[in-house]
Amino acid sequence: MSNNSGIDIDIELNKLARGYRIVAANGHLEATLGHLSWRDPEGRGLWMKCQERGLDEVESNDLHLINWNGKVLQGSKGHRHSEWPIHAAVYKARKDVHCVGHTHPMHCVLFSATNENLVGIGHNGSYFGGKVKVFEKTLALVRNMEDASAMATALGDAWAVLLRNHGVTFCGNSIQHCVVMGIAIEQACKEQLLMNGTGLNWEWKVNSGLKDEAVLYPRIVENLWLYHNRKLDKSESRT
Ligand SMILES: [Zn+2]
Repeated sequence: MSNNSGIDIDIELNKLARGYRIVAANGHLEATLGHLSWRDPEGRGLWMKCQERGLDEVESNDLHLINWNGKVLQGSKGHRHSEWPIHAAVYKARKDVHCVGHTHPMHCVLFSATNENLVGIGHNGSYFGGKVKVFEKTLALVRNMEDASAMATALGDAWAVLLRNHGVTFCGNSIQHCVVMGIAIEQACKEQLLMNGTGLNWEWKVNSGLKDEAVLYPRIVENLWLYHNRKLDKSESRT
């Protein structure tokens, strides 16, 4: 199934399903809660999993296309996730974003309850450039466009925003990029929480802008994505 943009939708949906299983294996699994989406290349809306499936179980046929008004147009007949507006609001605010994740991983949730600013202790935190804010308009589920738009405003031009006492929303300019940023934000929150727990004095890394700095340029994103896919294949072939 390809379209005018030349993008093969079936290939991308398979990639999105694998992205679900990869984030599940990297700290984001909370049974059936949480979701990743992909912007439909024909502008019809966004693709995400139905409510019934766990993050670690998602296959292409568990995905459905939701239009900008929340109507399921095609794909899985399962129930639509109520927090779909999170995804729609980010796509509306950010033309550069093609994939969005919203999950409740433990270290992001713990970090979201603090008044800390996320910095870069090592690489993971520094990928976010000190731009991660905490959205605190509501602590409840984000089920309407008003709250979701406010969350997208808090996201700004960053790759992630924490939701106070709730979880995280992360995004990327491709499925691969979003998955890599999702893994990095959970790891960055974990590193900073652990560091604070030591009671030691510590310093954070300030991005220098130098050429040899560890930044997530496209080849690194692709390398990490392919690595996580190989790891997924190995773990799934054991079951
Ligand atoms: Zn949520």
